[in-house]
Amino acid sequence: LGGSISRALQQMSNATIIDEKALNECLNEITRALLQADVQFKLVRDMQTNIKKIVNLEDLAAGHNKRRIIQQAIFNELCKMLDPGKPSFTPKKGKTSIIMFVGLQGSGKTTTCTKYAYYHQKKGWKPALVCADTFRAGAFDQLKQNATKAKIPFYGSYMESDPVKIAAEGVERFKKENCDLIIVDTSGRHKQEAALFEEMRQVSEATKPDLIIFVMDGSIGQAAFDQAQAFKKIVSVGAVIVTKMDGHAKGGGALSAVAATKSPVIFLGTGEHMDEFEVFDVKPFVSRLLGMGDWSGFMDKIHEVVPMDQQPELMQKLSEGHFTMRIMYEQFQNILKMGPMGQVLSMLPGFSAELMPKGHEKESQAKVKRYMTMMDSMTNEELDSTNPKLMNESRIMRIARGSGRQVRDVMEMLEEYKRLAKIWGKMKGLKIPKGGDMSAL
Ligand code: GDP
Ligand code: MG
Repeated sequence: LGGSISRALQQMSNATIIDEKALNECLNEITRALLQADVQFKLVRDMQTNIKKIVNLEDLAAGHNKRRIIQQAIFNELCKMLDPGKPSFTPKKGKTSIIMFVGLQGSGKTTTCTKYAYYHQKKGWKPALVCADTFRAGAFDQLKQNATKAKIPFYGSYMESDPVKIAAEGVERFKKENCDLIIVDTSGRHKQEAALFEEMRQVSEATKPDLIIFVMDGSIGQAAFDQAQAFKKIVSVGAVIVTKMDGHAKGGGALSAVAATKSPVIFLGTGEHMDEFEVFDVKPFVSRLLGMGDWSGFMDKIHEVVPMDQQPELMQKLSEGHFTMRIMYEQFQNILKMGPMGQVLSMLPGFSAELMPKGHEKESQAKVKRYMTMMDSMTNEELDSTNPKLMNESRIMRIARGSGRQVRDVMEMLEEYKRLAKIWGKMKGLKIPKGGDMSAL
């Protein structure tokens, strides 16, 4: 998806005249990409209309920030689509809340119930699990196993076949035990059968949940909207959790679920394990959805860190696959010029975690300066080379001597270069607009 959107924007920025036709072509391309990401057709169409309203053709024609304007507009629209306008019910620690989970069989309800309980337990809550799934054989065993592993109290029965009765009993019991988060797991049949919905409605009536969470398998594709809507019609869904985001899920279904339930996504399931559970955060999710996680961040950072007049040249070199020692030197210079290390941490890809760990800004700065001193002893040939074999033993010894450092220091600096070259090497093949109009990127 990221690829096709980048491509659409790229074509757009290459077009000399940005007229309505060019904009439409670009939007069509993006539409296709979003549909492929399982975003519902109607939502995509609405978004297209909105973007056309937002993006001012005159701004585009002026040649400034074409891609950025459109990219930003798409990003903002998607963020808006994920925000139903009101937050979901938020349970309060120490005060009893009843949370009911609904969703089709296999969507991940039982797993997610435990994750949700475990997440809160770690934060000092007193959660409890109630198994109101009497439909599926083994449902209680599964919940029991999960709960035991997480040391969370649970309630259920092998004998009783009435889920409404079990749910009511379980909630009563845990209220008496002063649990502050009573979680009711329900059964989910294969299809959205009437019997399932009736049972769900009755459990909801008997337990009076403060919040009903709709659990959705993230990989169900275009079916998401109808499925979410069907549940919303029967019980008052107040929040969504999208599971299996670790697999093939493209994420577009989350937008459908929000649109259909008018409720926010609150967590994502990212694996089968108890702690593979993330608080939902709109912006990173949309970045991932657009596949621009690394990429647009990368571009933004270059704009922030690299002085304007150097940007075209740098981009040109990177697009040719030349991340040389000299480029590393220049980026070090830029970083040092920007002042306190803390502020520039993670500004450029690869320059953060290892080279400049948080909390070690002073050491990082010293290290960067040390690397630069060694590079001052390098020849132009060495600085401009992209041949890793060039740096032989005698050159390394010469640099060490010249800079008054140890051979191992030079080796360390070269390792750092190799690491960064690998990361920055991803820029290879990037198309640079004629005239180096960086604002178009
Ligand atoms: P339920 O029928 O709705 O209760 O669904 P279950 O909780 O039993 O989950 C169905 C299957 O999906 C199980 O094999 C789970 O391990 C798996 N599952 C649930 N959540 C996730 C997730 O976030 N990622 C992955 N990879 N698997 C999950
Ligand atoms: Mg289950």
